[in-house]
Amino acid sequence: MKFRRGAWAALLMAVLTACSTNPMTGRSQLSLMPEATVISQSRSAYKAELAPYAKKNRLNDDPDMAARVRAITDRLIAQAVRYRPDTAAWAWEVNVIDDPKTLNAFCLPGGKMAVYSGLILKLKATDDEIAQVMGHEIGHALANHGAEKMSVGMLSDILVAALAGNNRGRQQTGDIASLLLWQLPNSRGAETEADRIGIELAARAGYRPEAAAELWRKMMRESGEKGRFALLSTHPASAERVEALAGLVPAMQPLYTEAAANPQALPTRLAANVRDVTPGAAPPPAALQPLSLVNLPLAAFRRGQARLGCDSCGMGFSSRLGRLKELADRQDWENLAGEVLEADYNQDIAWYYLGLAAEGLGLPVAWSYFERSVLRGVEEGGHCKGGLMDLCNGIDLPQKAREALVRLGP
Ligand SMILES: [Zn+2]
Repeated sequence: MKFRRGAWAALLMAVLTACSTNPMTGRSQLSLMPEATVISQSRSAYKAELAPYAKKNRLNDDPDMAARVRAITDRLIAQAVRYRPDTAAWAWEVNVIDDPKTLNAFCLPGGKMAVYSGLILKLKATDDEIAQVMGHEIGHALANHGAEKMSVGMLSDILVAALAGNNRGRQQTGDIASLLLWQLPNSRGAETEADRIGIELAARAGYRPEAAAELWRKMMRESGEKGRFALLSTHPASAERVEALAGLVPAMQPLYTEAAANPQALPTRLAANVRDVTPGAAPPPAALQPLSLVNLPLAAFRRGQARLGCDSCGMGFSSRLGRLKELADRQDWENLAGEVLEADYNQDIAWYYLGLAAEGLGLPVAWSYFERSVLRGVEEGGHCKGGLMDLCNGIDLPQKAREALVRLGP
């Protein structure tokens, strides 16, 4: 009985103290194990997985296919290290496993990757599609999902031990580490994050963002046929997934267009089982500026597709009025738009600020935001003076929005 209580206390302490911030998305995630530990365990798991194929000379035995995969992953890694500069120290590695019946690919924590030839052959995968699969897998590694997965597993293990009143579960943790990494399905949240990261890495590396949805569609179509669809057992494909990926395309398109227009400027890196950047192919200094994931609401705003969904967020909005005024006065247009989008308040004042920000940034969509401001305030009852509080921040609406419409012309 005494032990049980101790185990519960340990469990509670572990949970309370073991959350870390996801390095890619800022989400708080469970991590009972440091990433470095997971990386070193992954290294052994990787060796063990590859060894039987190496013995039978079934690693990279199709030189063309191996070169193709390496060229693609080189470009993805070059982008990955811009998002997480610390991963430049990872011993990135990719191998093509000659196993035409298996449709699978992975990137373990620490950057150890492999793709089974079945995925490329059976799906007749294009370079763009291979880039999407590998980008997705790299996304898991960058977002530290391996550690999270193992932590969840450890936690249930400790829980079992606590319930059973013994400590056996803890001892098994090491044994089940690889099982957890390889075989358990990823959580839906982790999948969504990896999709989100992968499509952006691929776009920045010059691969078509539409290929992500195309690939999963192919996968779903083919999954009825023979063959081990190992990837699908850990990565459930669904219509929602395909739709979500397709929805990311507009925000990714500018990154792709920019990268594809100037392919020789893409920083490349030889991941072909060496950890150093290819001599002479070091990325230009400007390209080394650390990146963060594209802010999707802001990207939609730039395209004229900003959304403000909350009709009753006046309280939250009122607390931001001072900051909004300050940003507008300072002509800090991007942050002004960001602040308005975060507040999500669907009133004429918010649309007016979006118009100002868009105008300041020289976006042709500014006119439509001012128009939206007038419509919302005049016809839809969403005027900033309409409620209990005056939220107009000293701006004479809808007059000011009308003036902007005249100023910018139709
Ligand atoms: Zn995944």
